[in-house]
Amino acid sequence: MASLTTIADEALIALDTLAERAGGMFSPSLRLGVTGLSRAGKTVFITAFVHNLIHGGRLPLFEAHKSGRVARAFLEEQPDDAVPRFQYEDHVSALVDSRIWPDSTRAISELRLTIEYESASGWNRMFSAGRLSVDLVDYPGEWLLDLPLLGKTYRQFSQEAFELADLPNRHDLSAPWRSLAATVDGDADADEMTARKLAESFAAYLKACKDDERALSTLPPGRFLMPGDLDGSPALTFAPLPGLGEGRARPGSLQAMMERRYEAYKSHVIKPFFREHIARLDRQIVLVDAMQALNAGPDAVADLERALTEILACFRPGRGSFLTDWFSRRIDRILIAATKADHLHHESHDRLQAIVRRLADRAIKRADFSGAEVDVLAMAAVRATREGTVKQGREMLPVIIGTPLEGERIGDEKFDGKTETAVFPGDLPATPDLAFNAKAGELAIRFVRFRPPRLERTAEGVTLSLPHIRLDRALQFLIGDRLA
Ligand code: GDP
Repeated sequence: MASLTTIADEALIALDTLAERAGGMFSPSLRLGVTGLSRAGKTVFITAFVHNLIHGGRLPLFEAHKSGRVARAFLEEQPDDAVPRFQYEDHVSALVDSRIWPDSTRAISELRLTIEYESASGWNRMFSAGRLSVDLVDYPGEWLLDLPLLGKTYRQFSQEAFELADLPNRHDLSAPWRSLAATVDGDADADEMTARKLAESFAAYLKACKDDERALSTLPPGRFLMPGDLDGSPALTFAPLPGLGEGRARPGSLQAMMERRYEAYKSHVIKPFFREHIARLDRQIVLVDAMQALNAGPDAVADLERALTEILACFRPGRGSFLTDWFSRRIDRILIAATKADHLHHESHDRLQAIVRRLADRAIKRADFSGAEVDVLAMAAVRATREGTVKQGREMLPVIIGTPLEGERIGDEKFDGKTETAVFPGDLPATPDLAFNAKAGELAIRFVRFRPPRLERTAEGVTLSLPHIRLDRALQFLIGDRLA
């Protein structure tokens, strides 16, 4: 008996693998990377993406959905066992039930959404299974900005870090770290406490750039800002050293120790991340918080452009780049999306898009980037506001209406997180140039953070999907052609 069961079990297992293989063959998958610097809106985007597909949201510009060809969409087990799962259910519950924004991305995670559809062409219907699995890969943009380090020696990394720290917009933020570094002798004997103090001070400066209202984008190493599970490990306990000469570091010196850890960071952190995740992506969406940068002024915009240039360069390394050999697939579409457009009246949405297009065009040029289709979009993955008009004297002002988060302020007014309010958000300038040249605070967009929207229910009590702005356009660009 026992042996019979065993045989039956084995047969089952064999059948399972066969079915899986066949499934893999006939139901294609698409790996979609979702990135952006911290707080750009990655978590909210993925949650809204999945929720709208599962619940059949209003998606008129997503062709397969509009023409009724999507039969259903559902979550399946993800293909990579070693990557944490994107906690979709928790995030939906926060957004929909508690009306609070979900916890932001802190590390990499993954979710598989499978879509069953009917192909639009008879030919395709005959040969495709009518299934597409979309593997959404969520990861911090900070980690991606580490890739250029692979081509830099410790000396180059140190030199550049000090050059950037000396720029007018970073000078004061970097002062404590620079003065600490000035007291350190790289040629002295290696000492763990000195290394730690320097690393902590350097990390504090990088964090200050990010938190400061100047809204500067980040500098590598990305794990100093988003350590994931590496917090406190030796690979993260290094920092640039000033005034390094051309010669080799003396064995046993602080410089030699820093250099070794920098190299360890490259080989144990950056390389595996790139190989295992970035190199396997088919498509990519890059979320940018352009509005925050615009509000903070030209330095923040220039910084965002620099970050975008570096991000694009990572996806399509030019010929001869050491990264090229590692790509197992080619990223063929990249969407650069300005999120949170629901903070503006719709009249300004196209203006926001034009500004981001300008930013992206310059980044594309500078990154010497070609081969992938790039599109640009202003959107809100979750729309927290409605639009209206308010009469002021004889004028009708376009306003947005929503529930500001508890503690938000406009002038003297402080909000309690319960009361709906009409806000006149201000306009973006009609030409992008004006936006690029505006001084800090000159654009006067009134930026209040709102609570997630209250979801409407049908007469039968069914909750409708999350409202959005142009999420359907994003879906069409990112996966539409694969459902044709
Ligand atoms: P992540 O760090 O990229 O994962 O960023 P999140 O997705 O957590 O978003 C950060 C914050 O930006 C959220 O907590 C929201 O306050 C805000 N946010 C993100 N997306 C939207 C959006 O579509 N509309 C609005 N109104 N706020 C958003």
